[in-house]
Amino acid sequence: MKIDIVDVSARDGLQNEPQAVRLSAQDKVDYIKLLMATGLKRIEAGSFVKPSAVPAMANSAQVGEDLKPLQAAYPQVTFSYLVPNERGLERARAIKAKEIAIFLGVSEEFARDNINAPSVEQSFADIAPVVGQALAAGIRVRGYLSTIFGYSDMAFSPDKVAQRAAQLLAMGCYEVSLGDTTGIGTADMTATLITALRDFGVPLSKVAMHFHDTFGRAIQNVAVSYEMGIRIFDASTGGLGGCPYAHSAKGNLAMGDLIHWARVNGIATPVTNPDMLEKAARFMLQKLGKTA
Ligand code: MG
Repeated sequence: MKIDIVDVSARDGLQNEPQAVRLSAQDKVDYIKLLMATGLKRIEAGSFVKPSAVPAMANSAQVGEDLKPLQAAYPQVTFSYLVPNERGLERARAIKAKEIAIFLGVSEEFARDNINAPSVEQSFADIAPVVGQALAAGIRVRGYLSTIFGYSDMAFSPDKVAQRAAQLLAMGCYEVSLGDTTGIGTADMTATLITALRDFGVPLSKVAMHFHDTFGRAIQNVAVSYEMGIRIFDASTGGLGGCPYAHSAKGNLAMGDLIHWARVNGIATPVTNPDMLEKAARFMLQKLGKTA
């Protein structure tokens, strides 16, 4: 019994932390080194969206440059960079990224507001050639699908999510991470969604769940997902990007909660050194001035 974990704290986490704009590339690299020391092998390292849109990620190119020697020394570790378009892919290629992540949504409003596309359909059409170019360049592509449990303009639509997840895999993504953007998911909704994925023929081995703990239900949703065959989860060390009181896109599942859940259930994880997890979390929380 084993799960795989993608650490999203250095990207998804930090971009939702107001103080993160002050972090230097060196701070982030030091932090990522601590994450690697925990045993984690899949680490989101940065983002190539427009720096004006996400200022906390403006130094991602420098982070990528500085990680090159580490990447060479630890080929079993994957650093991933979020890429919104062709320009982002160029920047990822400049630092010789081995993996990128693209992001799409199921909700029309989300596509307009967060992806800058007139429709969901258009957002998929726009990203397809970027995925093609990445694959041709030997770069692996992970797909994020947001708003899986609904959004302000859209009720929970499991069949739509399954169809879009299949579309991302067909496009060439090796894995699709399903994001509970607003944190509204319940155990029942999670079970319904996974059934829909299975019925649609989406291989669960290629599905990761990205839960937000906005309403304190992330771990219950992890447990249901695991029972139904999901083996990959996204989590954020130190709970970075988490804000359990805001009804917003925040509230990343904390790595410590996920590791604790796995331990009590006898499930192995890539985190072989939990003490380092504490150290990594403390290091970054201190840098952000969030130390309790
Ligand atoms: Mg998140």
